[in-house]
Amino acid sequence: MTTTPLVVLENVNKHFGDLHVLRDIDLSVTAGEVVVVIGPSGSGKSTLCRTINRLETIDTGRILLDGQPLPAEGRGLAKLRSDVGMVFQSFNLFAHKTVLQNVTLGPMKVLGQPKAKATERGMELLDRVRIGNQAHKYPAQLSGGQQQRVAIARALAMNPKVLLFDEPTSALDPEMVQEVLDVMTDLAKEGMTMVVVTHEMGFARRAANRVVFMADGQIVEENTPDEFFTKPQSERARDFLSKIL
Ligand code: ADP
Ligand code: MG
Repeated sequence: MTTTPLVVLENVNKHFGDLHVLRDIDLSVTAGEVVVVIGPSGSGKSTLCRTINRLETIDTGRILLDGQPLPAEGRGLAKLRSDVGMVFQSFNLFAHKTVLQNVTLGPMKVLGQPKAKATERGMELLDRVRIGNQAHKYPAQLSGGQQQRVAIARALAMNPKVLLFDEPTSALDPEMVQEVLDVMTDLAKEGMTMVVVTHEMGFARRAANRVVFMADGQIVEENTPDEFFTKPQSERARDFLSKIL
């Protein structure tokens, strides 16, 4: 564990037009920590994730990665995007590239890795997400759960400092949810720093060090999963939990 938090948001505010989507957000994520973000639809969870790798800009406040403000453009921004990996609900794989090519493209193009090295590491990562035997298939030949595991391997290939997951299992058929959560749980155990937006409360209980509950663009409550699920402090959290548990 380092003493400097890996990701820090200080008094972050963000509007979309008149809509105040992030309100005075203060959040700090330590290296090795798994933070699960939950909350009703429209509460700003995706926007929060997207600000951390600058897919969205912020209006006021500061975001620091490893103690440094996020770069706005150029090489710094490319480096940020490899330091802060993102796994989306919709996989976003390149359809006309094989599974292995999906995983090696970023390391070769952005990190300048030679093909042999990127391939060796890519195969290692595909094995780690239990999909090495599918390396030469195309995304469309895979199930949703397999595609999402490829997306996780692809993010890992960039050697990120932190991985953001935005509802990674929401688009999956129910029988495929667990295989993706299992991979994420392995990563958490291995010490990967993760911010995970999810409605999978079982995962939150098992893997999270901390649960952050958002509503209307604010962090309403932050606690250990044990405390949060057994003794939610706010009416909003109690109401939310009563609807999903
Ligand atoms: P969540 O992920 O918690 O469902 P979002 O961060 O996606 O919430 O959205 C928060 C609010 O911001 C919602 O009201 C949503 O409609 C709005 N919003 C999100 N993205 C945009 C955008 N690009 N332009 C305008 N409004 C947006
Ligand atoms: Mg969302």
